[in-house]
Amino acid sequence: MRLLTPGPTPLPEAVRLTLAMDMVHHRKPGFTALLGEIQKDLRWLFGTEQPVISMACSGTGAMTAAVNNLFRKGEKVIIVDGGKFGERWGEIASTHAVDAIIISVPWGKAITVDHVRSALAQYPDVKGVLVQASETSTGAMHPVRELAALTRERDVMLVVDGISAVGISPCPMDEWGVDCLLTGSQKGLMLPPGLAFLALSERAWKRVEENKPREFYFNLLGEREKIVKNSQTLFTPPINLLMGLHTCLAMFREKGLDAVFRRQWALTQMVRAAARSMGLSLLAEDDHCTWGLTSIVLPAGVDGSAVLACCAERYGVIMAGGQDRLKGRIVRFGHMGHVDFGDVLAGLYALDRAIAACGGYSASREYMETGMRAYEAALEQGLPEAFL
Ligand SMILES: *Cc1c(COP(=O)(O)O)cnc(C)c1O
Repeated sequence: MRLLTPGPTPLPEAVRLTLAMDMVHHRKPGFTALLGEIQKDLRWLFGTEQPVISMACSGTGAMTAAVNNLFRKGEKVIIVDGGKFGERWGEIASTHAVDAIIISVPWGKAITVDHVRSALAQYPDVKGVLVQASETSTGAMHPVRELAALTRERDVMLVVDGISAVGISPCPMDEWGVDCLLTGSQKGLMLPPGLAFLALSERAWKRVEENKPREFYFNLLGEREKIVKNSQTLFTPPINLLMGLHTCLAMFREKGLDAVFRRQWALTQMVRAAARSMGLSLLAEDDHCTWGLTSIVLPAGVDGSAVLACCAERYGVIMAGGQDRLKGRIVRFGHMGHVDFGDVLAGLYALDRAIAACGGYSASREYMETGMRAYEAALEQGLPEAFL
């Protein structure tokens, strides 16, 4: 079976072998040393000199920790809602009684900087902007670097859900001026689900210190103290997952971030070119597409769930469908993490045949060639300026 979903993603063999290792004790020197190395590598991955907190929860836990620690009840934040995960920011904010001003874009579109600028002008007392780097429900990439240029000039925290972006496309936190960057383990990081990571800027930490949030489990100040002073966590961490993380971060180091991003970008170009060559359209635009998944719009009358079932049963390729209003209408083709061009070729073939079997159409076989050419060209050209 090939797992081509936007999380969870396939596990490299080296990571699986590490995960299978026997238990060690988390308060003993060996594990403390491991946490110290992980800490260095996570800061490198996030592009920050600040501590990166590891948490035992799914990505949504880190989103919750960010909101509960950074904002007080009744404070105003702007939420960019361009899909399912933008919506989730709104739900978390309302649970914590934070006053959310929702600015929406149609699903598949990215927010514009002007849209956020005018919302900031309209609500001068806003304390934060909450956004996804990559909106995984649609495959659109929001302009985080430009948003950071806006918020870093003001007393406004930019909180970025990078769950399908960290380790997939660039988001150097300190350089761009992002105040909170968070991610989960099961997308670009090539690990099972169960871990989440969160980093704050210096000024964001100051805010948390002033807020003194009453959080027992998602206690970021407590976790920071533990990791910085003792290379420890407040509670028993998922020991095997962290050992797996250590292996996966070593793989990132060995390849280099630039090479990882280049490959992600090339796979994205491959899927986009091939899908277009099949005569299919793409939900997100070329200059606002994420690098870890591609949302492909199915021909009218073709049932998305039948296509996915056919891909799985006949070709052993597991992809994801659309959520909510996009249910049955799109295929979300995941190509993040431990996925190579051979996997993507298999996915493209399965998709093409499955659509044909579901009465969609019959395309020429040229899409394979077109996809491969786009992959080669993207690898040669390097990363596009507009995204960096
Ligand atoms: C997957 C994902 C989430 C949800 O993460 P969980 O680990 O399921 O809690 C949130 N935001 C984005 C952008 C995601 O891709």
